[in-house]
Amino acid sequence: MIIPKSHQLTPNQMAEVTKIVTEFGCSIHPIVGAMRTIYAILGDERDELMINRLEGLPYVERIDRIQSPFKLMDRRSDLSTHRITIGGATLGDELFVIAGACTIDPKNPNLFYETAAAVKEAGANMLRGGVWKPRTNPYAFQGDARSMDILMEASRRTGLPADTEVMEEAQIKVALDAGVTCLQVGARNALNYSLLRAIGREIAERRDVVVLLKRSIHMGPLNEFISAAEYIASFGNPNILLCPRGTTPTLDGYRNHPDESITPLLKEKTWAPVVVDPSHSVGKASYVPACAMAAVAYGADGLCIETHVSPSEGIGDDPKQSITPAVLADTITRARQIWALRHDTAVA
Ligand code: PEP
Ligand code: MN
Repeated sequence: MIIPKSHQLTPNQMAEVTKIVTEFGCSIHPIVGAMRTIYAILGDERDELMINRLEGLPYVERIDRIQSPFKLMDRRSDLSTHRITIGGATLGDELFVIAGACTIDPKNPNLFYETAAAVKEAGANMLRGGVWKPRTNPYAFQGDARSMDILMEASRRTGLPADTEVMEEAQIKVALDAGVTCLQVGARNALNYSLLRAIGREIAERRDVVVLLKRSIHMGPLNEFISAAEYIASFGNPNILLCPRGTTPTLDGYRNHPDESITPLLKEKTWAPVVVDPSHSVGKASYVPACAMAAVAYGADGLCIETHVSPSEGIGDDPKQSITPAVLADTITRARQIWALRHDTAVA
């Protein structure tokens, strides 16, 4: 929809916009109002270049898009009934919980094995464990490829599918070959389009694999978040979970600005399940349960919670933001009650 700056386009302006949209196989239909005329673009109006050219015209105030730019991730797309099932649990049918350590300590595998057993016992559906880590400080522990064996051994022992972050193209294949079910794209890489494309390509034929796509702190409009998912889905596998994990500017006292409240907005635009990460949102173990429950109240389909049997012995984020398995068990119980409440009532 073209909204002109003046009450209506002059004949010359009309000719110019008509020429542009015709090049893209569209036509213009004026809608005459009492005060102002606006111009509907008939046809597929999603072409970015056409929109840019129209928006660049000095007499155009703005272009309102009626059609979604997302062919696959849009709520109204053919995939709107697509369901994602992981390890026997279907997103949307029950609250899906990912839990485990931020970072696997390769020097202390038992701590991870104990953590894995404990999160399973607490009711988690998937085991998370960082093998390669994106760290702000280049001198901080960057992860260790040897931790992949520990992650997969813990996954085998517990029967929980494994989730780990990949930061480079080469790691995608290593993770898939090892048997990882969920490739995590971290907040720092959510706008790394070559990595998103590489993941899309590698998992195109692997419907048993899912992606947990974190929201970048640099993502402003929600469309940017959904577009990142569209990048992956465009190769053929739409098993993508959207993960708000706190954004910027930080809220005084929290690690980031908790953003679980974007869940209803995401759900209006996309069918993709929303799995909120309260751990990185608030960044401190004592605040995590409240943020987790708030996320479910906002309509989240799942949670990704850093958990450790002995947080003070952990590495990476674990000492400050991992909750213990006992707190996880309690949080899952309460969060599942909230989930049931939401899904049993008309407001859900
Ligand atoms: C993590 O999950 O440990 C992590 C680094 O997350 P994020 O990318 O959200 O910072
Ligand atoms: Mn972490």
